[in-house]
Amino acid sequence: MQILVASNNKKKLGELETILAEAGIAGVELLPLSAVEAYEEPVEDGRTFADNALIKARAGVAHTGLATIADDSGIAVEELNGMPGVLSARWSGTHGNDEANNDLLLAQMEHVPDERRAAAFVSTCALVTPDGQEFLAEGRWPGMLLRERHGENGFGYDPLFQPEGEERSSAEMTPAEKNAVSHRHRALEQLVPHIAELAKSA
Ligand code: IMP
Repeated sequence: MQILVASNNKKKLGELETILAEAGIAGVELLPLSAVEAYEEPVEDGRTFADNALIKARAGVAHTGLATIADDSGIAVEELNGMPGVLSARWSGTHGNDEANNDLLLAQMEHVPDERRAAAFVSTCALVTPDGQEFLAEGRWPGMLLRERHGENGFGYDPLFQPEGEERSSAEMTPAEKNAVSHRHRALEQLVPHIAELAKSA
């Protein structure tokens, strides 16, 4: 069976492929957005990661008729009541400007002491099927916000995030190390039983 992964980030599809292979699930072909007829992507105007993941997954089903997986993710800082949250990609006002987003977050948290710098990367993944079944899974990767950038790997807030139990930022971990424990991994692996069930009945 085919499943659309409604994301422009090819790495997400690769991560899910690895997770399915590790779980021994065969017969599932994951398609990137580039493999289906182009459609206008929906406005992500939800208030939660789950809202936005569902908006994206439902749009995929509506436009392609394929079961669709979509995720929404970001960083939630406790001291900021869980923000940037769903606004992570455009926290400084411009979508996807990682440098400006990191600068703003550092400035906002400048005077906050270490014991109040808890943060987590959060990913919510939605799987929606053509017959209207909807599954949601949330993955959290807890840690703390650093005071300056460390490391060159990853993207977004990785240079500012130190996972629990780590001495390094997530930008100092290799992609393989990060993928094995990340918020997205934790969310996607919860979808595996549902994908297996769909593959069995396809
Ligand atoms: P999206 O869900 O891919 O749209 O990501 C939303 C935003 O959250 C990204 O632009 C990043 O700023 C942030 N984000 C999500 N996951 C990560 C991660 O693994 N590392 C760093 N930043 C992330």
